[in-house]
Amino acid sequence: MSDCCAQPGLLPLEAALQRLLELAASAPISEVERVALAEADGRVLAEPLLAGLDLPPWDNSAMDGYALCLSDWQGEPLAVSQRIFAGAAPAALQPGTCARIFTGAPMPAGADCVEMQENVELLADGRVLFKQPLKLRQNVRPQGQETRAGEWVLEAGTRLTPIELGLAASLGAAELWVRRRPRVAVLSTGDELVEPGKALGPGQIYNSNRQLLIGWLQRLGCSVVDGGILADDLALTRATLGALQDVDLILSTGGVSVGEADFLGEALRAEGELTLWKLALKPGKPLTCGQFRGVPVIGLPGNPASTLVTFGLLARPYLLRRLGVEEVEPLGFQVPAAFVWSKPGKRREYLRARIEQGRAVLYANQSSGVLRSAAWADGLVEVLENSTLVEGDSVRFLPFSEML
Ligand code: AMP
Ligand code: MG
Repeated sequence: MSDCCAQPGLLPLEAALQRLLELAASAPISEVERVALAEADGRVLAEPLLAGLDLPPWDNSAMDGYALCLSDWQGEPLAVSQRIFAGAAPAALQPGTCARIFTGAPMPAGADCVEMQENVELLADGRVLFKQPLKLRQNVRPQGQETRAGEWVLEAGTRLTPIELGLAASLGAAELWVRRRPRVAVLSTGDELVEPGKALGPGQIYNSNRQLLIGWLQRLGCSVVDGGILADDLALTRATLGALQDVDLILSTGGVSVGEADFLGEALRAEGELTLWKLALKPGKPLTCGQFRGVPVIGLPGNPASTLVTFGLLARPYLLRRLGVEEVEPLGFQVPAAFVWSKPGKRREYLRARIEQGRAVLYANQSSGVLRSAAWADGLVEVLENSTLVEGDSVRFLPFSEML
């Protein structure tokens, strides 16, 4: 969507994301470290992975069966001259014979075909009768069919999951160069907040954003500096921010609207830089972006569903880009809406929704204070600015699994 669609004065999501990604690109976290594969899940590859060998390293059998030289074969039953298990180093195939062979075992030199065991008959004299027509190289997995030595198999900037780690292991890599973990400080602002485990006083609520962000950041490969709860107090805010000089990002929640108890902005104005964005986004209109004594600061709105949406759509891509990841936006797909949207909004909405029978069903209460909506949901449905929907209209769905 272009800027034209947002309400004047509201910053379209794309513009905010683009600005954040530019900031991220100008402050890359480029130090690297070498880690064992078992420690590399969720990290970002710092150097491309080069294949040092062919995969598979030699022709091998795709079946349990019998290997023969089809090029020389006249259709007669063949005696079995050797048995080749996976892990064996077979001798060359004796002319005029076949070899018993098992899945993954190297093809013997001179063999060019494998017949699966179900298609043969063992004769009383021990010879093998091939009952079906055979094709050259059938059931043979050729050397290098997956990868050739010297190929680049993974690009720098790849986020490592167990799949990439399995691939690296298949190429014999025991360790990988990855970007160091970003250090991210998490601050929860608000006089009303209390940590779980303690009793609630009058007017107090439990701090949910801290847990939400700490767990999410850890999954993204960050090392979290837990700044705890920050009271709504300017001097305290400045002192707390000032003590966080060795982090790559200060991520706070709350205190970013224009209420009287919103001290983050004041602190940044006094000792850094502040941009206050009013995003064309719901939930999650107010967002602070700036720095405090040179340390980047992102201030997310305090309502938990707003925290979730702004972290997932803005802060997460920002952090990944600082690590050199190219594809930073969650993968979405189109689904039919199982709901009606009759009141067009000025802001783009991200509604907590489930997929039921292939259609997006909304959680009944979409209030930005209701985190339960997200726990119920599978992801977010995007409703564009100034648009209405009838049941069956196609909407974009962003699964949480893509963002976590
Ligand atoms: P604020 O942006 O500070 O005005 O907060 C907006 C709303 O989010 C208020 O209702 C706060 O009580 C709530 N809120 C802020 N931070 C948290 C938090 N860490 N956990 C739960 N609710 C929060
Ligand atoms: Mg507050």
